[in-house]
Amino acid sequence: MWEVPEQLLLFTFWGGSEMSVARFWRKIPQRYNMIGTKCETCHRHFFPPRTFCPDCRRSGRIIDHKFAGTGTVVTYTVIHTANEQFEAFTPYVLAIVKLDEGPRMTAQIVCCPDEVKIGMRVKSVFRRIATDGESGIIHYGTKFVPVE
Ligand code: ZN
Repeated sequence: MWEVPEQLLLFTFWGGSEMSVARFWRKIPQRYNMIGTKCETCHRHFFPPRTFCPDCRRSGRIIDHKFAGTGTVVTYTVIHTANEQFEAFTPYVLAIVKLDEGPRMTAQIVCCPDEVKIGMRVKSVFRRIATDGESGIIHYGTKFVPVE
């Protein structure tokens, strides 16, 4: 299904990020559909999905959860230089978004770089995320747009 780009300038930017690039891309199907999980015992939500609740351990009951796609910008940066696949988007805003259900994710915010603010409300949209110049394959996935 997905031809996965290896060079992801945008995701390596955060340095100390909790998720490696490889792990990030293995989770693409979930990310694409905003499908995670939740623990019915303590109501904690997981995105990317987890099959085990670290709080409830064996008493946790994990079920699939479709995220609402709404959240808040925790922090952001503006990318001015990107490799070929992301070049068409520069300059673009890359942010950590805290979903309303709790988990955080890294994603592009589709807006003018002057417009983004910490604490800004956003919602998820399905958009083109990269173009593979050689093959012409276009990849789609989740981005966020500002909510009024
Ligand atoms: Zn739990």
